Amino acid sequence: MKIYPFLKLDDCYHYFLDDSGAGYINPRKFVEAQKKVAELQGCDIKIDIVNEVTEKSSRAYEVITEKEKRIRARRLLFCTGAFTKFKSLDPVKKLKMSVHKETAALLQISEAEQKRLSSMPPIMIYKKEIEDMPSTTTGVYIMPPLQYPDKKYYLKVGPMGHQKNSEVTTLEEVKKWHSSTGDSEVIQKLPKLVKRIIPDLKVNRVQSKTCITCDSPTRLPYIDRITPTVAVAAVGNGLGATICDEVGRLAACLSVTGQWDSELPKSLFEIILEEDDD
Ligand SMILES: Cc1cc2nc3c(=O)[nH]c(=O)nc-3n(C[C@H](O)[C@H](O)[C@H](O)COP(=O)(O)OP(=O)(O)OC[C@H]3O[C@@H](n4cnc5c(N)ncnc54)[C@H](O)[C@@H]3O)c2cc1C
Repeated sequence: MKIYPFLKLDDCYHYFLDDSGAGYINPRKFVEAQKKVAELQGCDIKIDIVNEVTEKSSRAYEVITEKEKRIRARRLLFCTGAFTKFKSLDPVKKLKMSVHKETAALLQISEAEQKRLSSMPPIMIYKKEIEDMPSTTTGVYIMPPLQYPDKKYYLKVGPMGHQKNSEVTTLEEVKKWHSSTGDSEVIQKLPKLVKRIIPDLKVNRVQSKTCITCDSPTRLPYIDRITPTVAVAAVGNGLGATICDEVGRLAACLSVTGQWDSELPKSLFEIILEEDDD
């Protein structure tokens, strides 16, 4: 590839370059921007953890937070991501969703190396059985080198598709996962794969990053009303960042007006509940 002389993509079947505005989102800046817009539109943002939500009467819910605030609400919209089922949030406790452990490798490089690779696009490789691909992975994503909050430059690589035994069902498991070093297969293999794609890459050190994602059976987000006063916008299936503005807009509209404001069929995004054990 002449325009990216540092890349060696022999392992790929076909190259496809989208240079018409495709790129990446900085999630930290994105969330800050969304909060700013929300405030400008009159939202009162409270930074706290909700431990419990119960229905007090058919017209009122009580939200109890970690700072021991009790908030009365007539209408609720849950956007609680992969943490939806880990607190006592009664209205959403039966949503059918699975939560998975994810690992990414961060390859720390120097500022000079970052400058050399500054034209690198985000890369996604969809191919099974590439050398150095973890066993259950269907592809990998490789982010160009970026500056992180610690001011250092990292090139991030992660698998697509879940690793073996990735499902977690309790908050304790999630906490343990976040303080762990992640999946060793990902950390050992993916930096090698990156070095085959960028053969001259000089890596100072490799770090791991753990996080969680959640899936629905349909592989689409839930954007729905559970009752006329409780709505939900959750379950990103590992792809939620790219669509979150529109998911939020649809969910807010549905929550406030009861209207589905999209050309896409509402039925695609309806919630699925777990079956009762008894
Ligand atoms: C390593 C990794 C790479 C990814 N890469 C991509 C990608 O390339 N493209 C893409 O589109 N997506 C990607 N995703 C997925 C994407 O990040 C999620 O799909 C998206 O963030 C889901 O958005 P959300 O608003 O539903 O949930 P979240 O972003 O998880 O937001 C939920 C919010 O609710 C808060 N919350 C939850 N419970 C409570 C509670 N009880 N009290 C108070 N607050 C609470 C949380 O703190 C959080 O702020 C990636 C995820 C990971 C982990």
